[in-house]
Amino acid sequence: MQFRDLVKQYQVLKPEIDKAMEETAASGGYIMGKAVKELESALAEYVGVKHCITCANGTDALTLALKAWNIGPGDAVFVPDFTFFASAEVISNEGATPVFVDVSKDTFNICPVSLEEHIQKVVAKGELTPKVIITVDLYGLPADYHAIRAIADKYNMYMLEDGAQGFGGTINGQRACSLGDISTTSFFPAKPLGCYGDGGAVFTNNDEWAGIISSLRFHGKGSYKYDNVRIGMNSRLDTIQAAIILPKFKAFVEYELDDVNKAAGLFTERLKDVVKTPFIPEGYRSSWAQYTIRLENEEQRDGLQAYLKEQGIPSMVYYPKPMCEQTAFKYLNYPEGSNPTTIELCKTVLSLPMHPYLTEKEIDKVANEVINYLSRVR
Ligand SMILES: *Cc1c(COP(=O)(O)O)cnc(C)c1O
Repeated sequence: MQFRDLVKQYQVLKPEIDKAMEETAASGGYIMGKAVKELESALAEYVGVKHCITCANGTDALTLALKAWNIGPGDAVFVPDFTFFASAEVISNEGATPVFVDVSKDTFNICPVSLEEHIQKVVAKGELTPKVIITVDLYGLPADYHAIRAIADKYNMYMLEDGAQGFGGTINGQRACSLGDISTTSFFPAKPLGCYGDGGAVFTNNDEWAGIISSLRFHGKGSYKYDNVRIGMNSRLDTIQAAIILPKFKAFVEYELDDVNKAAGLFTERLKDVVKTPFIPEGYRSSWAQYTIRLENEEQRDGLQAYLKEQGIPSMVYYPKPMCEQTAFKYLNYPEGSNPTTIELCKTVLSLPMHPYLTEKEIDKVANEVINYLSRVR
């Protein structure tokens, strides 16, 4: 059994994907070719924003947003303590200071109460200016944008949606990657919409920021290729990756997103009485980048993971360490136990196999083995 079966997806979509790769090879337009523009239009329309600017990866997408807002030394950027490293790495790379916020126990997303506490602490200290809130749509579930927007407005801050795992999720029909002032996503192969290498995109309704980001991704390009008006980056999405995403995006919209939701529903039905299954708030829909259960303690979680491995079932711990405890962030001197919910989740979460091509038989096997293990240790 695969944790995320990308080869199975390729087998299903092989004719279209092979054709896309061959056409790109024959076209000669390897950089910023036709498929790039086509993909950007299709994604902007789907998400419901004016501009989509593709780039080299999801980390660069976040960096491009911070650069468009001129974030740098002296600025505080608030980010969940429970996320993938890249969400916070980009802040330090711009010379700004990451402030790690605790997450909500039920949704695993940034906690509005903890966020406001951390903002007030920074304001009281008076050394840094609160500038940006990075919300992460963890495991595919959009963050609490209603509450976060109110806080961003109150403190005059930008909201940057890290939708690397969130693409395809919705809140009352409004799509992820349209929920921030700027939103980003990643096309890393294992994300909800992946390519066959690295890729990413930035989304915004703001014309000025879109213009700056288009320039930044292409060496600070001005009116033509050898007119450089700002210090930029080399961060474009390869034409061949855009061409591969187009048929995958079609499958994503037509059935994959529905199929992962069906798979998640089956897991929850089978597991809800034995473990803590994912909580999806009223009006929200997840794109199920991960299906993550919670166990009672670290020993039980690690025991279950080892048992599943023996049964040939892969599972993952996303994430085993709070951001503020990462060696790379030791320079920020966070006291131990800073964000208690994050610490608790790092010890108790376990992500089970999840993808649109999972069969009901596979779901049954995974669910039965989880139940078997827990009935043995309880
Ligand atoms: C994967 C991921 C990123 C980074 O995306 P890359 O394309 O790998 O650079 C950023 N944030 C989150 C939450 C992610 O899961």
